[in-house]
Amino acid sequence: MADSRKYAGESPLEKYPEPRSGAPLAIAAYPNSYSTGMSNLGFHFVYSCLAGSGRFRVERRFLDDRPVPVTAGAVFFTVSYEEDLLNLVRMLVSLGIEPMRERRAEGPLVIVGGPVISSNPVPFFPLADVLAAGEGEGTLPLIVEAVADEGSDRSALASRLSTVDGLILPGFSEQTQTAAPVDPELFQNSVILASDTVFPDMLLVEISRGCPGACSFCMATSVYRPFRTMPLERFESILDSTLGAEGAETCRVGLVSTAVAAHPDFTEMMRAVDGRGGSVGLSSLRAIDVDGAIAEAIGRMHIRSISLAPETGSEAMRRKLGKKVSDRAFFNAARLLREAGVSRFTLYMLAGLPGEDRLIFDETERFLKAFVESAGGARVMVNLNVLVPKPRTPLQFMAMPGQKELRASVDSVRVACSEAGIGISVKGGRSSMNQARIALGDEAVGRAAVRFIAGRTSWKRALRDEGVDPDLIHLERGVGEILPWEHVFGDGGRDSLLVRYRAALG
Ligand code: SF4
Repeated sequence: MADSRKYAGESPLEKYPEPRSGAPLAIAAYPNSYSTGMSNLGFHFVYSCLAGSGRFRVERRFLDDRPVPVTAGAVFFTVSYEEDLLNLVRMLVSLGIEPMRERRAEGPLVIVGGPVISSNPVPFFPLADVLAAGEGEGTLPLIVEAVADEGSDRSALASRLSTVDGLILPGFSEQTQTAAPVDPELFQNSVILASDTVFPDMLLVEISRGCPGACSFCMATSVYRPFRTMPLERFESILDSTLGAEGAETCRVGLVSTAVAAHPDFTEMMRAVDGRGGSVGLSSLRAIDVDGAIAEAIGRMHIRSISLAPETGSEAMRRKLGKKVSDRAFFNAARLLREAGVSRFTLYMLAGLPGEDRLIFDETERFLKAFVESAGGARVMVNLNVLVPKPRTPLQFMAMPGQKELRASVDSVRVACSEAGIGISVKGGRSSMNQARIALGDEAVGRAAVRFIAGRTSWKRALRDEGVDPDLIHLERGVGEILPWEHVFGDGGRDSLLVRYRAALG
C-alpha cells in the first residue's frame, strides 16, 4: 500500500506501484473526519489517482488526525460540504502550510476539487493554486502529471493546465467551462474498505451520476449531467475483483446514486450481489422508480430500511420546485416496500421553502398521516434540512428566510410530525445560514475564513472585516448583477434558470 500512514480496521482493495525513489510527498486530504472522508468516493478517487501514478509518496490526512506539520510537494483536497472551507484552512494550518496562496509562492501547492468547487469555486481563490470543477476523472490525472513534472513552479503549471476545461488557476486563469462528463465505465468504487466509516466495511460503487429529475434546489442535474449509468458488466467486474480480494472480507455492497432504482439494471445488480453471497445497502430511492419488481428485489435482499425524499407534503409545492412526483407515488412506494418487508422509512424533507404558508404545513400533516397509513406499521421518521440556495441552480436567486421564519417553519413541520405520530430529526438551522454564506460567497469569504481560523475574531466579525454582509443571504440576488460563479463559468443559461426560479416562487 502506497500510504505509509496506518489507520486501524482497513483492508486495501488495490495494489499501487512503489513510488519512484526520491518521489515528493503528496497529501490526499479530506477537510472533515476520517469517518466522513473514507465514506466519500471522490476522496477514494483522489487517493487512488495519486497512489496509482507512482510519482508521489502518498499520505491521507483528515481533520481529526493529530496535527503534524509535513514537508509536502502538494496537498489535494476533496470538498463536499461548504462549511468544510473553514476545516480546509484549519488543516492547512495544522499541516504547517500557509493558507493564503499569495504568501505561499514557493511553498507546497494546494489543489482543491469536489462538488463545492463545481458549484462555486470563488471563495477558494485566495487559498488554492489549482481548482478543479466538474467531474475529475478527466482532469485529475493531468494535474497529477503536471505537478509531478513541474513541482511548485506556478507559471509552468499554469502554462500546462490553464486551458484545460474544468481547471481554474487563481491569479493565472479564472474562467473555465465545467469539465466534460465522463464515460460511466470510469465511475468510482471504494479502493480501501474501512470499518470506522458511515458505511462500515462496505464496498461502495457509484452506479450512476447526475439525476433524471430536475429539482430546482439541486445541483445533481445542473452540474452533473446528463444522467449516466454504469454498465452492468462493469459493475459485475468490480464485484468479482473486490469481493474476492485478498484480505477484503466484505460481502456488503453500497450502491451510490442520486436515484439508485432509476438504473435500468437495478434488479440485475441486486441479483449479481446476491449471487456472490453479498448484501446490499442503498442510498435514497425516488418514489416514482418503485414498482412491484423493484420492491420485490429489495425484499429479496432483506433490505429493511429505505429513504425517500418528498421534500414537502404539498404536492403543488413539490411540482413548483420541479419535483414532479405525486403524493400517490409516495404512498404507493410505501405500500409496495412495506409488503416486501421494509420496516423503516426515512423521509427527507425541507424547511424554508419559497412561499411556505399555513396551507403547506396542513398539507404536510395530511401527507405524513397518509404515508404512515400506507407504510402499514413500519417505523417512519422525518429528516428535516433547511433549504440552502445553491449556485448554478434555479434557486441561486432566492432570498433565504431569516432565523425567525426558519424557526417557525421547522416548528410547523415538527407539529405535523407529532400529529402524524412520527419522529423528526432536524439538521441545519443556524449552520445552514453559514452554509449559504459560503455557498454563495466570493473571494472575501475565503479571506474571512483565514482571518477567523487565525483566532482573532468571530466568524461574523471576520466576514464583516472582509466586507461581507452576513445578512446578504436574506436578499434576492443576481437579477441585475453578475454572481461570483458566473465570472468563472458564464451565466449558465441564466434566462432558463430565472424562468424556473419564478415558477418555484409560484
Ligand atoms: S430527485 Fe433528488 S437528486 Fe434528483 S434532482 Fe431531485 S433532489 Fe436532486
